[in-house]
Amino acid sequence: SDNQPWIKSTCAYCGVGCGIEAQVTQGPEGESATVAVRGDESHPANYGRLCSKGLALGETVVDQGRLTQPQIHGQDSAWQPALQMVADKFSHTIAEHGPDSVAFYVSGQLLTEDYYIANKLMKGFIGSGNIDTNSRLCMSSSVAGHKRAFGTDTVPNTYTDLEQSDLVVLVGSNLAWCHPVLFQRLKAAKAARPEMRVVVIDPRDTETTSIADLYLPIKPGADVLLYNGLLDYLARAEKLDDSYIEQHTENFTHALNQAQFDCADRESFYAKLGLPSSLVTTFYRWVAETDKTLTVYSQGVNQSSAGADKVNAIINTHLATGRIGRLGCGPFSVTGQPNAMGGREVGGLANMLAAHLEFGNQRASELIKTFWDSANLATGPGLKAVEMFDAIADGKIKAVWVMATNPAASLPNRDKVKQALANCDFVVVSDCIADTDTTQFAHVLLPAQGWAEKSGTVTNSERRISRQRQIVPALGEAKPDWWIMSEVAKLMGFGAQFDYPSEADVFKEYAAMTALGQEEESCKRDLDISGLADITTEQYHSLAPVQWPVAQGSQPLDDQRFFAEGGFYTASRKGQFVSTAYRPPQTATNAKYPLILNSGRLRDQWHTMTRTGLSARLNAHKPEPFININPLDAQAYGTTEGAIVKVTSLAGSAMARARITTEVQPGQLFMPIHWTGTHSSHSCVSSVVTPEYDPVSGQPESKFTPVALSPW
Ligand code: SF4
Repeated sequence: SDNQPWIKSTCAYCGVGCGIEAQVTQGPEGESATVAVRGDESHPANYGRLCSKGLALGETVVDQGRLTQPQIHGQDSAWQPALQMVADKFSHTIAEHGPDSVAFYVSGQLLTEDYYIANKLMKGFIGSGNIDTNSRLCMSSSVAGHKRAFGTDTVPNTYTDLEQSDLVVLVGSNLAWCHPVLFQRLKAAKAARPEMRVVVIDPRDTETTSIADLYLPIKPGADVLLYNGLLDYLARAEKLDDSYIEQHTENFTHALNQAQFDCADRESFYAKLGLPSSLVTTFYRWVAETDKTLTVYSQGVNQSSAGADKVNAIINTHLATGRIGRLGCGPFSVTGQPNAMGGREVGGLANMLAAHLEFGNQRASELIKTFWDSANLATGPGLKAVEMFDAIADGKIKAVWVMATNPAASLPNRDKVKQALANCDFVVVSDCIADTDTTQFAHVLLPAQGWAEKSGTVTNSERRISRQRQIVPALGEAKPDWWIMSEVAKLMGFGAQFDYPSEADVFKEYAAMTALGQEEESCKRDLDISGLADITTEQYHSLAPVQWPVAQGSQPLDDQRFFAEGGFYTASRKGQFVSTAYRPPQTATNAKYPLILNSGRLRDQWHTMTRTGLSARLNAHKPEPFININPLDAQAYGTTEGAIVKVTSLAGSAMARARITTEVQPGQLFMPIHWTGTHSSHSCVSSVVTPEYDPVSGQPESKFTPVALSPW
């Protein structure tokens, strides 16, 4: 009914972070409530727009499939014994084998308050760096690239830049499907200003190329080379911003020398790119002549064994032209998950400490120890996702707590991950879903609140913090993740530091933490939301979307950008060019595995479909697993449209229906990531993806697996 209030919250899915409004209508006695969802017209991420997934959010607020009761060894339990068992097992394992014998594997689905507590417990009190997140699979290469270039994990841009740019270059991003509202904003801006140009660089001809003025179907993995070529071109065309380079950066000559070396042999340069010189030169010319150039990149860049180098090769071209931190220009990483950014901020990655303070900075460690009153702060980075599950497989990690994610479906070489979990002494899983590929391995299962039940904050790709608000009461015994971890922390003997009356208190502590060391040269950094540390609980509950930084005593501002006037957070305060030598993907195709398997998202599904799979209209878009195959390969391998085919790699195999399409180039296949063991035990792409990863970022190479194709 119209009389019910519309509650403002944030979409559960991608890193665009759209504001939504939800209205609950109680059903007749005995029937569950229905939730209507619409876009929030006042939210600066979307101004009322939503994509198909956001519009269907209400359909996913159902009881079906939920985990509603703690379980110990498959038996229902009350909370107290389940929490006690987790605390005891972790405490005993740590006492016997040391802090690095335990680990948390967490998620970009967690709210910032949850993430903050997870990181505080592991790094601050257990004393290990072994907390990593599924964001490792999503944007850790961008984090590594940002830190190398800027000294901090800073996204310099805002969404307005997409609309104000004159040349938007989309690299490795199917924005139309993966960040649909940003695509809508870009499309509308381009319609209003037809002189705006869009370039799409992607081995796949996706929906996104529909708005491209220029499309570069680059060979998979060749992005560093393309951007080294661009740096060389800009230098030769005398389009560099010498004064920006001189005043605000270091190591330019090194990076340029490497770039020139990589593209000196023009014939092999174009051959490695797989592109005709005319397309490449047009792209370079457009960049050279367009001051307001914005480079938007996503998983096609990040999910690579050279992911961090790809990010730095892109950033190099922006530093070299001074096109950063100004309206309509800059390097812009758009992140996949709803709160990957919030997780990065509070230290959810194994190689970050907290509040953008870094391992290896003695002063930062001292400040954190005092702030948390912690005697046992981790002294160095922990294991990153793939290494973490290798250590579980090797028996070095003996107790693991998985929160809000499904690594048995989503990590590369998932058969090994499943084996590792099956052999692990103690596995805890907290989730809102009962039956996932990972919950099967849990000794203790803890019911977490779902999207519509939780309360906290998330940060989107433009550094905007938004409230996620409770829309419906928690189902069964489900509890907030921050509460579950705090209770375990208290039972482990860390009570005084984990006594939070509410999520607002967690947020305020985190906000206060971002002030640590800001006035000191060794700790000064980008992330500062200490201006929100003193808000009241009421102000927290009514918090409007706010973009950071918000320093103490300052008012929140919109459309803030970084680095137009330098001011980087490296030791020298200069932006760093990184010398990026092109190297091909870690594994190559060969006679046995002659095709390249790419993987990615669909428009209407999210991750392993535990939520989007509940909506009939979302399922209708692509109802079953498929593999895109180019017509030439279909002919060569004797496959026809609709046939069931099998792809096999060194890791394993998967089957799906053949879809014959020129969306993929000859020699390349594409398979969506969403289908897992619980839907179709043979159609999970993670069974096939091999576990190569970027040595700098630890991000797996999920978009390049040599495979064989055969009939099923
Ligand atoms: Fe949700 Fe992303 Fe769609 Fe916005 S664009 S409605 S955040 S899935």
